[in-house]
Amino acid sequence: MAILEEPIKKTLLLKNYIGGEWVESKGEFHDIINPATCKTISKVPSSTKEEVNEAVKKANKAYPEWRRTPPLARVRRLFQLKELLEENFEELSRIQTMEHGKTIDESRGETRRGIENVEVAAGIPSLMMGYNLEDIATGIDEYLIRQPLGVFSCIAPFNFPFMVPLWFAPYAVATGNCVIIKPSPRDPISQVKIAELVDEADFPPGVWNIVQGGAEVAEILLEHSDIKGVCFVGSTPVAKEIYKRCGQMGKRVIAQGSAKNFILIMPDANLEKTIPALMTSFFGNTGQRCLSGANAVVVGKDDVFYKNFVEAFLSAASKIKVGYGLDDGVQMGPLQSKKAKERVLGFIEKGVSEGAKIILDGRKVKITGNYPETCFLNPTIFEEVTVDMSIAKEEIFGPVANIMRAKDLDEAIDMIHASRYGNAASIFTSNGKFAREFQYRVKCGNIGINIGIAAPMAFFPFSGMKDSFFGILHGQGKEAIRFFTESKVVIQRWW
Ligand code: NAD
Repeated sequence: MAILEEPIKKTLLLKNYIGGEWVESKGEFHDIINPATCKTISKVPSSTKEEVNEAVKKANKAYPEWRRTPPLARVRRLFQLKELLEENFEELSRIQTMEHGKTIDESRGETRRGIENVEVAAGIPSLMMGYNLEDIATGIDEYLIRQPLGVFSCIAPFNFPFMVPLWFAPYAVATGNCVIIKPSPRDPISQVKIAELVDEADFPPGVWNIVQGGAEVAEILLEHSDIKGVCFVGSTPVAKEIYKRCGQMGKRVIAQGSAKNFILIMPDANLEKTIPALMTSFFGNTGQRCLSGANAVVVGKDDVFYKNFVEAFLSAASKIKVGYGLDDGVQMGPLQSKKAKERVLGFIEKGVSEGAKIILDGRKVKITGNYPETCFLNPTIFEEVTVDMSIAKEEIFGPVANIMRAKDLDEAIDMIHASRYGNAASIFTSNGKFAREFQYRVKCGNIGINIGIAAPMAFFPFSGMKDSFFGILHGQGKEAIRFFTESKVVIQRWW
Protein backbone atom coordinates (compact mmCIF):
# COMPACT_ATOMS: atom_id res chain seq x y z
CA MET A 1 0.00 0.00 0.00
CA ALA A 2 1.28 3.45 -0.83
CA ILE A 3 1.71 5.65 2.21
CA LEU A 4 -1.41 7.72 2.72
CA GLU A 5 -0.31 11.26 2.05
CA GLU A 6 -1.95 14.62 1.67
CA PRO A 7 -3.01 15.51 -0.92
CA ILE A 8 -4.38 12.10 -1.87
CA LYS A 9 -3.11 11.17 -5.29
CA LYS A 10 -4.93 7.90 -5.72
CA THR A 11 -7.86 6.29 -3.92
CA LEU A 12 -6.87 2.95 -2.44
CA LEU A 13 -8.97 -0.02 -3.51
CA LEU A 14 -8.91 -2.29 -0.47
CA LYS A 15 -8.59 -6.05 -0.95
CA ASN A 16 -9.18 -9.06 1.23
CA TYR A 17 -6.19 -10.97 2.57
CA ILE A 18 -7.08 -14.65 2.26
CA GLY A 19 -4.71 -17.60 2.49
CA GLY A 20 -1.68 -15.33 2.11
CA GLU A 21 -3.00 -13.70 -1.09
CA TRP A 22 -4.43 -10.25 -1.77
CA VAL A 23 -7.77 -10.97 -3.37
CA GLU A 24 -9.99 -8.39 -5.07
CA SER A 25 -13.58 -8.67 -3.92
CA LYS A 26 -16.51 -9.04 -6.29
CA GLY A 27 -18.72 -7.33 -3.71
CA GLU A 28 -19.99 -3.78 -3.78
CA PHE A 29 -17.54 -1.03 -2.80
CA HIS A 30 -18.17 2.07 -0.71
CA ASP A 31 -16.08 5.16 -0.03
CA ILE A 32 -13.92 5.73 3.02
CA ILE A 33 -13.83 9.45 3.68
CA ASN A 34 -11.29 11.35 5.74
CA PRO A 35 -13.65 13.09 8.19
CA ALA A 36 -11.43 16.18 8.49
CA THR A 37 -10.98 16.92 4.79
CA CYS A 38 -14.13 15.13 3.51
CA LYS A 39 -11.99 13.62 0.72
CA THR A 40 -12.36 9.99 -0.34
CA ILE A 41 -9.19 8.14 0.61
CA SER A 42 -10.13 4.55 -0.15
CA LYS A 43 -12.88 2.19 -1.23
CA VAL A 44 -13.82 -0.87 0.77
CA PRO A 45 -15.81 -3.86 -0.45
CA SER A 46 -18.56 -5.83 1.18
CA SER A 47 -17.15 -9.32 0.65
CA THR A 48 -19.36 -11.98 -0.89
CA LYS A 49 -20.39 -15.15 0.91
CA GLU A 50 -18.05 -17.20 -1.32
CA GLU A 51 -15.11 -14.95 -0.38
CA VAL A 52 -15.81 -15.25 3.35
CA ASN A 53 -16.23 -19.01 3.06
CA GLU A 54 -12.95 -19.19 1.15
CA ALA A 55 -11.20 -17.33 4.00
CA VAL A 56 -12.56 -19.81 6.54
CA LYS A 57 -11.51 -22.72 4.30
CA LYS A 58 -7.96 -21.40 3.92
CA ALA A 59 -7.65 -20.66 7.64
CA ASN A 60 -8.92 -24.11 8.50
CA LYS A 61 -6.46 -25.66 6.05
CA ALA A 62 -3.55 -23.74 7.60
CA TYR A 63 -4.53 -24.72 11.14
CA PRO A 64 -3.13 -28.29 11.56
CA GLU A 65 0.37 -27.33 10.43
CA TRP A 66 0.37 -24.06 12.40
CA ARG A 67 -0.83 -25.84 15.50
CA ARG A 68 2.07 -28.32 15.19
CA THR A 69 4.59 -25.48 14.77
CA PRO A 70 6.53 -25.18 18.07
CA PRO A 71 5.48 -22.13 20.13
CA LEU A 72 8.97 -20.64 19.86
CA ALA A 73 8.80 -20.81 16.07
CA ARG A 74 5.31 -19.30 16.11
CA VAL A 75 6.41 -16.34 18.20
CA ARG A 76 9.38 -15.69 15.93
CA ARG A 77 6.77 -14.54 13.41
CA LEU A 78 5.38 -12.22 16.08
CA PHE A 79 8.83 -10.82 16.87
CA GLN A 80 9.24 -10.10 13.19
CA LEU A 81 5.81 -8.47 13.06
CA LYS A 82 6.69 -6.32 16.08
CA GLU A 83 9.85 -5.10 14.30
CA LEU A 84 7.86 -4.22 11.18
CA LEU A 85 5.19 -2.43 13.21
CA GLU A 86 7.94 -0.33 14.84
CA GLU A 87 9.52 0.45 11.46
CA ASN A 88 6.13 1.55 10.12
CA PHE A 89 5.01 3.29 13.34
CA GLU A 90 4.48 6.74 11.81
CA GLU A 91 2.68 5.52 8.72
CA LEU A 92 0.40 3.30 10.80
CA SER A 93 -0.42 6.26 13.02
CA ARG A 94 -1.08 8.62 10.11
CA ILE A 95 -3.48 6.11 8.58
CA GLN A 96 -5.55 6.08 11.80
CA THR A 97 -5.76 9.87 11.81
CA MET A 98 -6.80 9.94 8.17
CA GLU A 99 -9.45 7.25 8.35
CA HIS A 100 -10.77 7.97 11.84
CA GLY A 101 -10.05 11.64 12.57
CA LYS A 102 -8.20 11.32 15.89
CA THR A 103 -5.12 13.49 16.43
CA ILE A 104 -1.73 12.14 15.43
CA ASP A 105 -0.67 11.91 19.09
CA GLU A 106 -3.79 9.89 19.90
CA SER A 107 -3.02 7.65 16.92
CA ARG A 108 0.56 7.17 18.13
CA GLY A 109 -0.83 6.16 21.53
CA GLU A 110 -3.13 3.65 19.82
CA THR A 111 -0.27 2.23 17.75
CA ARG A 112 1.83 1.80 20.88
CA ARG A 113 -0.98 0.06 22.76
CA GLY A 114 -1.56 -2.28 19.83
CA ILE A 115 2.11 -3.22 19.55
CA GLU A 116 2.22 -3.97 23.27
CA ASN A 117 -0.22 -6.82 22.68
CA VAL A 118 2.10 -8.33 20.09
CA GLU A 119 4.91 -8.08 22.66
CA VAL A 120 2.89 -9.76 25.40
CA ALA A 121 1.66 -12.53 23.10
CA ALA A 122 5.29 -13.26 22.22
CA GLY A 123 5.61 -14.69 25.75
CA ILE A 124 3.45 -17.69 24.76
CA PRO A 125 6.11 -20.38 25.31
CA SER A 126 5.88 -19.54 29.03
CA LEU A 127 2.33 -18.21 29.18
CA MET A 128 0.72 -21.21 27.50
CA MET A 129 2.24 -23.77 29.88
CA GLY A 130 -0.10 -25.98 31.81
CA TYR A 131 0.55 -27.47 35.24
CA ASN A 132 0.97 -30.88 36.84
CA LEU A 133 1.01 -32.86 40.06
CA GLU A 134 2.79 -36.12 40.72
CA ASP A 135 1.18 -38.87 42.77
CA ILE A 136 -2.40 -37.65 42.80
CA ALA A 137 -2.84 -41.28 43.94
CA THR A 138 -0.07 -43.80 44.42
CA GLY A 139 1.93 -43.96 41.17
CA ILE A 140 -0.54 -41.79 39.26
CA ASP A 141 0.31 -38.36 37.82
CA GLU A 142 -2.01 -35.71 36.48
CA TYR A 143 -1.34 -32.73 34.26
CA LEU A 144 -3.10 -30.03 32.30
CA ILE A 145 -2.15 -29.00 28.78
CA ARG A 146 -3.52 -26.11 26.73
CA GLN A 147 -4.41 -26.73 23.10
CA PRO A 148 -5.66 -24.39 20.37
CA LEU A 149 -9.13 -24.85 18.89
CA GLY A 150 -8.96 -23.88 15.21
CA VAL A 151 -10.24 -20.71 13.53
CA PHE A 152 -11.37 -17.60 15.41
CA SER A 153 -12.89 -14.45 14.03
CA CYS A 154 -12.63 -10.90 15.28
CA ILE A 155 -15.38 -8.36 14.55
CA ALA A 156 -14.09 -4.87 15.27
CA PRO A 157 -15.53 -1.42 16.02
CA PHE A 158 -14.63 1.84 14.30
CA ASN A 159 -13.23 3.80 17.23
CA PHE A 160 -9.83 2.07 17.55
CA PRO A 161 -9.29 0.75 14.03
CA PHE A 162 -5.68 -0.31 14.66
CA MET A 163 -5.66 -1.51 18.26
CA VAL A 164 -8.83 -3.48 18.95
CA PRO A 165 -8.12 -6.50 16.69
CA LEU A 166 -4.69 -6.64 18.35
CA TRP A 167 -6.37 -7.27 21.71
CA PHE A 168 -7.10 -10.72 20.26
CA ALA A 169 -5.29 -11.73 17.06
CA PRO A 170 -1.70 -11.95 18.43
CA TYR A 171 -2.86 -14.26 21.26
CA ALA A 172 -5.01 -16.33 18.88
CA VAL A 173 -2.14 -17.06 16.52
CA ALA A 174 0.52 -17.37 19.22
CA THR A 175 -1.50 -20.17 20.84
CA GLY A 176 -1.67 -21.98 17.49
CA ASN A 177 -5.06 -20.88 16.16
CA CYS A 178 -5.77 -19.09 12.87
CA VAL A 179 -7.68 -15.83 12.73
CA ILE A 180 -10.02 -13.94 10.41
CA ILE A 181 -10.35 -10.22 11.13
CA LYS A 182 -13.35 -8.26 9.95
CA PRO A 183 -12.50 -4.59 10.47
CA SER A 184 -15.16 -1.93 10.83
CA PRO A 185 -16.32 -0.96 7.33
CA ARG A 186 -16.02 2.67 8.48
CA ASP A 187 -12.21 2.65 8.83
CA PRO A 188 -10.70 -0.58 7.53
CA ILE A 189 -7.34 0.68 6.20
CA SER A 190 -5.29 0.17 9.37
CA GLN A 191 -6.00 -3.56 9.38
CA VAL A 192 -5.01 -3.84 5.72
CA LYS A 193 -1.71 -2.19 6.55
CA ILE A 194 -1.17 -4.61 9.46
CA ALA A 195 -1.93 -7.54 7.14
CA GLU A 196 0.72 -6.25 4.71
CA LEU A 197 3.22 -6.45 7.55
CA VAL A 198 1.94 -9.89 8.57
CA ASP A 199 2.63 -10.96 4.99
CA GLU A 200 6.15 -9.52 5.18
CA ALA A 201 6.69 -11.26 8.53
CA ASP A 202 6.27 -14.61 6.77
CA PHE A 203 3.34 -16.03 8.65
CA PRO A 204 2.28 -19.20 6.81
CA PRO A 205 -0.59 -18.51 4.37
CA GLY A 206 -4.01 -18.72 6.01
CA VAL A 207 -2.91 -18.07 9.60
CA TRP A 208 -3.94 -14.38 9.60
CA ASN A 209 -6.72 -13.26 7.22
CA ILE A 210 -8.80 -10.15 6.57
CA VAL A 211 -12.27 -10.02 5.10
CA GLN A 212 -13.87 -6.64 4.52
CA GLY A 213 -17.50 -5.78 5.00
CA GLY A 214 -20.18 -4.90 7.53
CA ALA A 215 -22.92 -6.74 9.44
CA GLU A 216 -23.66 -9.01 6.45
CA VAL A 217 -20.10 -10.35 6.51
CA ALA A 218 -20.10 -10.71 10.31
CA GLU A 219 -23.28 -12.74 9.91
CA ILE A 220 -21.57 -15.26 7.60
CA LEU A 221 -18.68 -15.65 10.05
CA LEU A 222 -21.08 -16.13 12.95
CA GLU A 223 -23.02 -18.84 11.13
CA HIS A 224 -19.99 -20.75 9.88
CA SER A 225 -19.53 -24.06 11.66
CA ASP A 226 -15.72 -23.95 11.23
CA ILE A 227 -15.41 -20.74 13.25
CA LYS A 228 -14.74 -21.94 16.79
CA GLY A 229 -14.95 -18.61 18.56
CA VAL A 230 -15.74 -14.93 18.07
CA CYS A 231 -14.20 -11.80 19.58
CA PHE A 232 -16.60 -8.93 19.19
CA VAL A 233 -16.19 -5.30 20.24
CA GLY A 234 -18.92 -2.77 19.42
CA SER A 235 -22.32 -1.55 20.53
CA THR A 236 -24.38 -3.33 23.19
CA PRO A 237 -27.35 -4.43 21.06
CA VAL A 238 -25.01 -6.19 18.62
CA ALA A 239 -22.81 -7.57 21.46
CA LYS A 240 -25.87 -9.06 23.14
CA GLU A 241 -27.11 -10.66 19.94
CA ILE A 242 -23.66 -12.07 19.12
CA TYR A 243 -23.35 -13.52 22.62
CA LYS A 244 -26.72 -15.23 22.24
CA ARG A 245 -25.97 -16.53 18.75
CA CYS A 246 -22.56 -17.88 19.73
CA GLY A 247 -24.18 -19.65 22.68
CA GLN A 248 -26.69 -21.27 20.35
CA MET A 249 -23.96 -22.30 17.92
CA GLY A 250 -21.63 -23.61 20.66
CA LYS A 251 -18.92 -21.04 19.90
CA ARG A 252 -16.66 -19.36 22.41
CA VAL A 253 -17.30 -15.67 22.65
CA ILE A 254 -15.98 -12.43 24.07
CA ALA A 255 -18.55 -9.67 23.44
CA GLN A 256 -17.63 -6.16 24.58
CA GLY A 257 -20.35 -3.54 24.40
CA SER A 258 -21.16 0.14 24.92
CA ALA A 259 -20.46 2.35 27.93
CA LYS A 260 -21.55 5.36 29.95
CA ASN A 261 -18.74 6.13 32.34
CA PHE A 262 -19.02 8.11 35.57
CA ILE A 263 -16.13 10.14 36.95
CA LEU A 264 -16.42 11.19 40.60
CA ILE A 265 -14.70 14.33 41.80
CA MET A 266 -14.45 14.25 45.58
CA PRO A 267 -14.20 17.54 47.50
CA ASP A 268 -10.59 16.70 48.42
CA ALA A 269 -9.50 16.16 44.81
CA ASN A 270 -6.46 18.08 43.63
CA LEU A 271 -8.12 20.17 40.91
CA GLU A 272 -4.89 21.32 39.33
CA LYS A 273 -4.02 17.72 38.48
CA THR A 274 -7.57 16.49 37.99
CA ILE A 275 -8.70 18.95 35.31
CA PRO A 276 -6.06 18.01 32.66
CA ALA A 277 -6.83 14.31 33.25
CA LEU A 278 -10.53 15.05 32.75
CA MET A 279 -9.91 16.88 29.48
CA THR A 280 -8.37 13.78 27.88
CA SER A 281 -11.00 11.58 29.51
CA PHE A 282 -14.02 13.52 28.20
CA PHE A 283 -12.70 15.00 24.96
CA GLY A 284 -9.81 12.73 23.92
CA ASN A 285 -10.54 10.74 20.76
CA THR A 286 -13.41 13.27 20.37
CA GLY A 287 -15.30 11.39 23.08
CA GLN A 288 -15.38 8.24 20.93
CA ARG A 289 -13.86 5.88 23.48
CA CYS A 290 -15.61 3.15 25.43
CA LEU A 291 -13.53 4.44 28.36
CA SER A 292 -14.40 8.13 27.87
CA GLY A 293 -15.72 10.10 30.80
CA ALA A 294 -19.37 10.95 30.21
CA ASN A 295 -20.89 11.99 33.55
CA ALA A 296 -18.73 14.11 35.89
CA VAL A 297 -20.22 13.85 39.37
CA VAL A 298 -19.04 16.48 41.83
CA VAL A 299 -19.47 15.00 45.29
CA GLY A 300 -20.27 16.95 48.48
CA LYS A 301 -22.34 19.93 49.56
CA ASP A 302 -19.56 22.49 49.25
CA ASP A 303 -20.89 25.07 46.75
CA VAL A 304 -17.57 26.89 46.55
CA PHE A 305 -15.73 23.70 45.56
CA TYR A 306 -18.45 22.94 43.01
CA LYS A 307 -18.20 26.43 41.51
CA ASN A 308 -14.41 26.25 41.33
CA PHE A 309 -14.61 22.87 39.63
CA VAL A 310 -17.11 24.04 37.00
CA GLU A 311 -15.09 27.17 36.26
CA ALA A 312 -11.85 25.23 35.84
CA PHE A 313 -13.48 22.48 33.74
CA LEU A 314 -15.21 25.02 31.48
CA SER A 315 -12.11 27.14 31.08
CA ALA A 316 -9.91 24.15 30.11
CA ALA A 317 -12.50 22.71 27.68
CA SER A 318 -12.97 26.10 25.97
CA LYS A 319 -9.24 26.17 25.18
CA ILE A 320 -9.12 22.80 23.38
CA LYS A 321 -7.82 23.35 19.85
CA VAL A 322 -10.05 21.54 17.36
CA GLY A 323 -8.89 20.76 13.82
CA TYR A 324 -7.32 18.22 11.50
CA GLY A 325 -5.40 15.72 13.59
CA LEU A 326 -2.35 15.80 11.30
CA ASP A 327 -1.87 19.54 11.88
CA ASP A 328 0.48 20.76 14.61
CA GLY A 329 -0.99 21.67 17.97
CA VAL A 330 -4.46 20.23 17.29
CA GLN A 331 -5.88 18.60 20.44
CA MET A 332 -9.20 17.25 19.18
CA GLY A 333 -10.17 15.98 15.72
CA PRO A 334 -13.57 15.64 14.05
CA LEU A 335 -16.14 12.96 14.73
CA GLN A 336 -15.58 9.93 12.54
CA SER A 337 -18.43 10.67 10.13
CA LYS A 338 -21.21 13.11 9.32
CA LYS A 339 -23.70 10.56 10.64
CA ALA A 340 -21.81 10.31 13.94
CA LYS A 341 -21.92 14.09 14.29
CA GLU A 342 -25.67 14.15 13.57
CA ARG A 343 -26.18 11.56 16.29
CA VAL A 344 -24.28 13.70 18.82
CA LEU A 345 -26.18 16.82 17.73
CA GLY A 346 -29.42 14.91 18.38
CA PHE A 347 -28.28 14.24 21.96
CA ILE A 348 -27.31 17.87 22.52
CA GLU A 349 -30.79 18.94 21.43
CA LYS A 350 -32.33 16.33 23.71
CA GLY A 351 -30.25 17.62 26.63
CA VAL A 352 -31.47 21.15 26.06
CA SER A 353 -35.10 20.05 25.75
CA GLU A 354 -34.84 17.89 28.90
CA GLY A 355 -33.80 20.96 30.88
CA ALA A 356 -30.04 20.56 31.26
CA LYS A 357 -28.14 23.86 31.20
CA ILE A 358 -25.68 24.13 28.32
CA ILE A 359 -22.66 26.11 29.50
CA LEU A 360 -20.39 25.36 26.54
CA ASP A 361 -22.06 24.89 23.18
CA GLY A 362 -19.86 22.93 20.77
CA ARG A 363 -22.37 23.40 17.97
CA LYS A 364 -20.75 26.78 17.37
CA VAL A 365 -17.93 25.12 15.49
CA LYS A 366 -14.52 26.80 15.74
CA ILE A 367 -11.68 25.00 14.00
CA THR A 368 -8.02 25.66 13.34
CA GLY A 369 -7.27 25.48 9.61
CA ASN A 370 -9.41 25.63 6.55
CA TYR A 371 -11.52 22.45 6.57
CA PRO A 372 -15.20 21.77 5.97
CA GLU A 373 -17.23 21.83 9.21
CA THR A 374 -19.08 18.64 8.18
CA CYS A 375 -17.80 16.30 10.91
CA PHE A 376 -16.48 18.82 13.43
CA LEU A 377 -17.96 19.72 16.79
CA ASN A 378 -16.33 21.57 19.67
CA PRO A 379 -16.46 20.39 23.29
CA THR A 380 -19.91 20.73 24.83
CA ILE A 381 -20.71 20.90 28.54
CA PHE A 382 -24.03 20.51 30.31
CA GLU A 383 -24.67 21.43 33.92
CA GLU A 384 -27.65 20.53 36.12
CA VAL A 385 -27.87 17.08 34.59
CA THR A 386 -29.87 14.45 36.45
CA VAL A 387 -29.71 10.66 36.17
CA ASP A 388 -33.13 10.36 34.54
CA MET A 389 -32.15 12.48 31.51
CA SER A 390 -31.32 10.60 28.33
CA ILE A 391 -27.99 12.46 28.00
CA ALA A 392 -27.02 10.97 31.38
CA LYS A 393 -28.22 7.44 30.56
CA GLU A 394 -27.34 6.81 26.95
CA GLU A 395 -23.95 6.57 25.30
CA ILE A 396 -23.46 9.76 23.26
CA PHE A 397 -20.03 8.83 21.88
CA GLY A 398 -18.97 12.41 21.26
CA PRO A 399 -17.31 15.38 23.01
CA VAL A 400 -20.15 16.05 25.45
CA ALA A 401 -19.64 16.27 29.22
CA ASN A 402 -22.45 16.23 31.78
CA ILE A 403 -21.82 17.80 35.16
CA MET A 404 -23.89 16.32 37.97
CA ARG A 405 -23.92 16.58 41.77
CA ALA A 406 -24.20 14.02 44.58
CA LYS A 407 -24.35 14.82 48.28
CA ASP A 408 -21.91 12.06 49.27
CA LEU A 409 -20.01 9.00 48.02
CA ASP A 410 -22.95 6.67 48.70
CA GLU A 411 -25.27 8.72 46.54
CA ALA A 412 -22.65 8.95 43.78
CA ILE A 413 -22.15 5.16 43.78
CA ASP A 414 -25.94 4.70 43.61
CA MET A 415 -25.94 6.92 40.53
CA ILE A 416 -23.32 4.70 38.89
CA HIS A 417 -25.32 1.61 39.76
CA ALA A 418 -28.49 3.04 38.23
CA SER A 419 -26.75 2.85 34.84
CA ARG A 420 -27.25 -0.25 32.71
CA TYR A 421 -23.58 -0.10 31.75
CA GLY A 422 -20.50 -1.13 33.74
CA ASN A 423 -17.50 -0.51 31.54
CA ALA A 424 -15.42 1.99 33.53
CA ALA A 425 -15.63 4.42 36.44
CA SER A 426 -13.07 6.71 38.04
CA ILE A 427 -12.66 8.63 41.27
CA PHE A 428 -10.47 11.69 41.86
CA THR A 429 -9.61 12.07 45.53
CA SER A 430 -6.79 12.52 48.04
CA ASN A 431 -8.44 10.12 50.48
CA GLY A 432 -7.43 6.44 50.48
CA LYS A 433 -10.60 5.39 52.25
CA PHE A 434 -12.81 6.90 49.54
CA ALA A 435 -10.65 5.25 46.88
CA ARG A 436 -10.86 1.84 48.51
CA GLU A 437 -14.62 2.07 49.03
CA PHE A 438 -14.99 3.02 45.39
CA GLN A 439 -12.83 0.17 44.11
CA TYR A 440 -14.58 -2.30 46.44
CA ARG A 441 -18.18 -1.40 45.71
CA VAL A 442 -18.46 -0.07 42.17
CA LYS A 443 -19.82 -2.59 39.66
CA CYS A 444 -17.67 -1.63 36.69
CA GLY A 445 -14.94 -3.65 35.00
CA ASN A 446 -12.22 -0.97 34.69
CA ILE A 447 -11.65 1.30 37.67
CA GLY A 448 -9.55 4.47 37.70
CA ILE A 449 -8.22 6.06 40.89
CA ASN A 450 -6.96 9.52 39.96
CA ILE A 451 -6.88 8.15 36.39
CA GLY A 452 -9.35 9.47 33.82
CA ILE A 453 -9.06 6.70 31.25
CA ALA A 454 -8.80 3.34 33.00
CA ALA A 455 -7.33 1.46 30.03
CA PRO A 456 -5.77 -1.88 31.06
CA MET A 457 -2.29 -2.60 29.75
CA ALA A 458 -1.82 -5.58 27.41
CA PHE A 459 -0.81 -7.90 30.28
CA PHE A 460 -4.11 -7.28 32.11
CA PRO A 461 -7.57 -8.21 30.81
CA PHE A 462 -9.74 -5.50 29.28
CA SER A 463 -12.72 -5.89 31.55
CA GLY A 464 -16.34 -4.75 31.59
CA MET A 465 -19.57 -5.62 33.43
CA LYS A 466 -23.36 -5.48 33.07
CA ASP A 467 -24.47 -4.38 29.58
CA SER A 468 -20.88 -3.47 28.67
CA PHE A 469 -19.61 -7.05 28.57
CA PHE A 470 -21.02 -10.48 27.74
CA GLY A 471 -18.82 -13.46 28.45
CA ILE A 472 -16.40 -14.69 31.10
CA LEU A 473 -12.84 -14.50 29.81
CA HIS A 474 -11.57 -11.21 28.41
CA GLY A 475 -9.19 -10.07 25.69
CA GLN A 476 -5.49 -9.35 26.44
CA GLY A 477 -2.99 -11.07 28.72
CA LYS A 478 -3.49 -14.39 30.48
CA GLU A 479 -7.25 -14.43 30.05
CA ALA A 480 -6.85 -14.26 26.28
CA ILE A 481 -4.62 -17.33 26.46
CA ARG A 482 -7.34 -19.19 28.37
CA PHE A 483 -9.92 -18.02 25.83
CA PHE A 484 -7.94 -19.23 22.84
CA THR A 485 -7.12 -22.66 24.29
CA GLU A 486 -8.87 -25.77 25.53
CA SER A 487 -7.72 -27.11 28.90
CA LYS A 488 -7.07 -30.81 28.52
CA VAL A 489 -6.37 -32.93 31.59
CA VAL A 490 -4.30 -36.11 31.40
CA ILE A 491 -4.14 -38.70 34.19
CA GLN A 492 -1.53 -41.42 33.77
CA ARG A 493 -0.29 -44.56 35.42
CA TRP A 494 2.38 -46.99 34.21
CA TRP A 495 2.81 -50.53 35.40
P1 NAD B 1 -21.14 -1.44 15.99
O1 NAD B 1 -21.82 -2.36 16.94
O2 NAD B 1 -21.97 -0.62 15.08
O3 NAD B 1 -20.16 -2.28 15.02
C1 NAD B 1 -19.13 -3.09 15.53
C2 NAD B 1 -18.82 -4.19 14.52
O4 NAD B 1 -19.95 -5.04 14.40
C3 NAD B 1 -18.51 -3.68 13.12
O5 NAD B 1 -17.48 -4.47 12.59
C4 NAD B 1 -19.81 -3.89 12.37
O6 NAD B 1 -19.62 -4.09 10.98
C5 NAD B 1 -20.38 -5.14 13.04
N1 NAD B 1 -21.84 -5.20 13.07
C6 NAD B 1 -22.72 -4.17 13.08
N2 NAD B 1 -23.99 -4.63 13.17
C7 NAD B 1 -23.91 -5.98 13.23
C8 NAD B 1 -24.86 -7.03 13.33
N3 NAD B 1 -26.16 -6.77 13.39
N4 NAD B 1 -24.41 -8.30 13.37
C9 NAD B 1 -23.09 -8.58 13.33
N5 NAD B 1 -22.14 -7.62 13.23
C10 NAD B 1 -22.53 -6.34 13.18
O7 NAD B 1 -20.15 -0.53 16.86
P2 NAD B 1 -19.28 0.72 16.39
O8 NAD B 1 -20.17 1.88 16.19
O9 NAD B 1 -18.35 0.33 15.30
O10 NAD B 1 -18.38 0.95 17.68
C11 NAD B 1 -18.71 1.82 18.72
C12 NAD B 1 -19.25 1.06 19.90
O11 NAD B 1 -18.28 0.12 20.35
C13 NAD B 1 -19.55 1.96 21.09
O12 NAD B 1 -20.76 1.56 21.67
C14 NAD B 1 -18.39 1.70 22.04
O13 NAD B 1 -18.66 1.91 23.40
C15 NAD B 1 -18.13 0.24 21.77
N6 NAD B 1 -16.78 -0.14 22.16
C16 NAD B 1 -16.64 -0.91 23.25
C17 NAD B 1 -15.39 -1.28 23.69
C18 NAD B 1 -15.24 -2.12 24.91
O14 NAD B 1 -14.13 -2.53 25.19
N7 NAD B 1 -16.29 -2.40 25.66
C19 NAD B 1 -14.25 -0.85 22.98
C20 NAD B 1 -14.42 -0.07 21.85
C21 NAD B 1 -15.70 0.28 21.44
